[in-house]
Amino acid sequence: MHSPSTENLDLLCSVLYNVAMRRRNIKRFRLEPLCELMATLGQNTYRAEQIFQWIWQKNATDFAAMTNISKAFRNSLSQKFTIQGLQKRTVKTAHDGSQKYLFRTNDSKYVESVFIPEGKRKTVCVSTQIGCPVQCAFCATGRMKFSRNLRAHEIADQARIVQHDTNTKVTNVVFMGMGEPLLNLQETLGAIEINSSPIGLSISQRHTTVSTVGILQGMRTLLNAPFKVKLAISLNFADENVRNEMIPVAKNNPLKEVLQIAKEYSRTKSMVTFEYVMIKNLNDRLRDARLLVSLLKDIPAKINLIPYNEHPLMPYKRPSDERIGQFYNYLLTAPQTVTLRKSRGQEIQAGCGQLAAFHVVKKK
Ligand code: SAH
Ligand code: SF4
Repeated sequence: MHSPSTENLDLLCSVLYNVAMRRRNIKRFRLEPLCELMATLGQNTYRAEQIFQWIWQKNATDFAAMTNISKAFRNSLSQKFTIQGLQKRTVKTAHDGSQKYLFRTNDSKYVESVFIPEGKRKTVCVSTQIGCPVQCAFCATGRMKFSRNLRAHEIADQARIVQHDTNTKVTNVVFMGMGEPLLNLQETLGAIEINSSPIGLSISQRHTTVSTVGILQGMRTLLNAPFKVKLAISLNFADENVRNEMIPVAKNNPLKEVLQIAKEYSRTKSMVTFEYVMIKNLNDRLRDARLLVSLLKDIPAKINLIPYNEHPLMPYKRPSDERIGQFYNYLLTAPQTVTLRKSRGQEIQAGCGQLAAFHVVKKK
């Protein structure tokens, strides 16, 4: 086992070495800039595709592995560039088979992802930020201090490493881990590009879901972007006053406009899903269900009810099964399809809203 000090020393040495050698991390280049880079190095653009494929599809961590590239050019690449990404630290497995991964970034920060195998569907729930600047009152990620946005390659690395580690083809990606993807939209789109590329991870955009708390500007950009991903909106509260209280950014992103874009997204791209986290005595009463049905009445969508996942550091509770059942039954009167999400990986704190790398935070 590494002691933290040896580890930090190794890291410091490698950072200093790379700075001294002016080596840049080649994973920071998306495919198009990588083609431009190859052109400036006097290479054909197909070299860029070869390198991209080695890194993202064949999991190369060293230029030496890239055997379809001449040895001379591989040597020259390794003098100018590094291939750096997330490092897997720990994996916890729950009884239901879901696994929580803890990764370390190059600047010694921690991120979590969850692997959820369900029959043929193998989903990875990825993080887009370290912590979350939105700080919803009920969410453990929101309780962490926001540290920084993840880069596209760090987001894509999560699915890549899980796929390699579990030796399983990942079929679906959901951007439902730590962070608000639409507050880190360009890097999120960059990750989707890597994930969905046939020379990347080959995960279809139709099997990719971006979840947002309802950031209008990002929703508009996504609506007009040439990406075919699904959109989930964490509505959570049909009463706008309660919503504004629990989700600080909601005041600047009014529900009426969020719902308008949702309608447009369903009409022109793909059916949106409204996520509704049920919290005891806060949004689990019949009058909340009535309000929800009336709010969404003319929006083509799916509704996904998520019973609150409790967290030792959070005061909120999951409603009783009876309350959840009553709420669900009332929602069956709505025109939308309603689902009740099974909780997965709760004993390892891998459920929605539970990712917080608290064991790491507590050490400090
Ligand atoms: N920031 C984005 C993406 C993160 S997804 C968003 O909020 O949509 C995290 C999902 O987990 C959101 O739907 C959120 O409402 C939900 N959530 C947060 N805390 C939860 C908890 N304790 N139990 C169940 N769901 C929770
Ligand atoms: Fe951030 Fe989403 Fe958690 Fe709110 S629910 S704090 S937006 S991750």
